[in-house]
Amino acid sequence: MSAILALFAAYFAQGSPAERADLLIRNARIHTGDPAAPVARDMAIRGETIAAVGQDLAAWAGPGTRTIDAGGRTVVPGFIDSHGHVRGLGESLASLDFKGSASAEAAAAMVAREAAGRKPGDWIVGRGWDQTRWPGSAFPAADALDRAAPRNPVYLTRVDGHAAWVNRRAVEASDINAATPDPAGGRIHRDGKGSATGVLVDRAMRLVSARIPAAGPEQIQAFLSRGARECVRLGLTSVHDAGVGAAEIAAYEKLIAAGAMPVRIYAMIGGDGELWRSHLKSGPRTGSRLTVRSIKLMADGALGSRGAAMKEPYSDDPGNRGLTVTAKQTIERVAKEAVDRGFQVNTHAIGDRANRDVLDAYAAALGGRNDRRFRVEHAQVVSLADIPLFARYSVIASMQATHATSDMRWAEARVGPDRIEGAYAWRRFLDAGVRIANGSDFPVENANPIEGFHAAVARGGWRLSQRMTREEALRSFTADAAYAAFEERVKGRLMPGMLADFAILSGDILSIPEPEIPRVKVLTTVVGGRVEYEARP
Ligand SMILES: [Zn+2]
Repeated sequence: MSAILALFAAYFAQGSPAERADLLIRNARIHTGDPAAPVARDMAIRGETIAAVGQDLAAWAGPGTRTIDAGGRTVVPGFIDSHGHVRGLGESLASLDFKGSASAEAAAAMVAREAAGRKPGDWIVGRGWDQTRWPGSAFPAADALDRAAPRNPVYLTRVDGHAAWVNRRAVEASDINAATPDPAGGRIHRDGKGSATGVLVDRAMRLVSARIPAAGPEQIQAFLSRGARECVRLGLTSVHDAGVGAAEIAAYEKLIAAGAMPVRIYAMIGGDGELWRSHLKSGPRTGSRLTVRSIKLMADGALGSRGAAMKEPYSDDPGNRGLTVTAKQTIERVAKEAVDRGFQVNTHAIGDRANRDVLDAYAAALGGRNDRRFRVEHAQVVSLADIPLFARYSVIASMQATHATSDMRWAEARVGPDRIEGAYAWRRFLDAGVRIANGSDFPVENANPIEGFHAAVARGGWRLSQRMTREEALRSFTADAAYAAFEERVKGRLMPGMLADFAILSGDILSIPEPEIPRVKVLTTVVGGRVEYEARP
């Protein structure tokens, strides 16, 4: 009798007999993220959500069930990129990509090939150059692009998005001349006579980029769609889109209505302009495919272009303390508006001065511990004494592991041996009780979360005391990223009732030898119970 009861109990624990799975994953090594049952073998999905996770869910198979035999492969919660730019990713896939170009001349040669197929006057746009990877590491100049494309304006964004390399045609299309002052928060590289030499930093970029014909609604949809498809190919099931405008929100809505948005989007409103004002009136909006409840502000520039705001001058550029892009008072005002209306504030801060300013501005609005989940995006170089302030005000550090592996060649030259202690300092943040939401800042870095996971645990061998454990790294790309969007009840773990967002991997990133991690491939990506990507066998 008791044996029958036990059998009965076991049966009901796996679900009622009337239920059948729409999708059944069998024979997998499922990393659930559930501390009570971290590894499981089978998972049953009904509709958009997980119905059961267990050791043997054969009883869930019915005539309408699609069963995937994982053959012992690994299943992880769908990766969440806490800081990416979906449109930028789509644009970069559709435009000239200078990542990996070996010199300014090699980049210019690519531009020349592009110009050969273009009409005179057409803008040639690209991104991804990085002078620190070129001989001499000097910033490039306009004349190489003048020779490559004498009849086309050229605008090439640096890998970090914080500087542009332009040619004379592009400068002529703007109002820049020798008498033009540097705009607040920006810098025009100049020669001895004051003329622009072809590099524009941070807020100076707009002087030229504003002249590039804007993409229309269809083109924006095409960029978002292409970026989103790339995300699911890489096992991402949600992306926090770090700075969108009304045009992107409208395009997302169209794609979602058409059933053509494979990833879920947590959108940050880009800046405190008109879109922010209108959302302050209407309040946050949440949805299963698109949520808008946060604003993205920019406190400073980036470290590579020496635009990051530092308390003391750059170690390799005495006299330069970087750029303040948004005044502390503005951040404080927006933070208070956000608290009043239930929004989250996510502010880009890379230098130690910017980080401290943002923390002070947040503190004025938050007062102490809270559940507002305000974030600092990047938190890249932080004074050791300021790291505990993140915990004191419950601020999330939204960091990007691959920034460390990309910057490690020159980061210490920028900030010197003392400040480097608080740079990309994941271990110090975790030990201080700070939650880290991980991401890539794609297309600045590759969108591949497995590359990010590997950087988080291996750091390219650099300053290993600050690495994460594999469990921490996975959590930062899943459950803690979900938490950073107020979504931890539905995303980031594989448990009954949660959304069926997951990826099947070719290897177990929690147990294989570390050097093998980068070779792990995503075989299948499932979003809301729907297979959105399957690798060709
Ligand atoms: Zn970004």
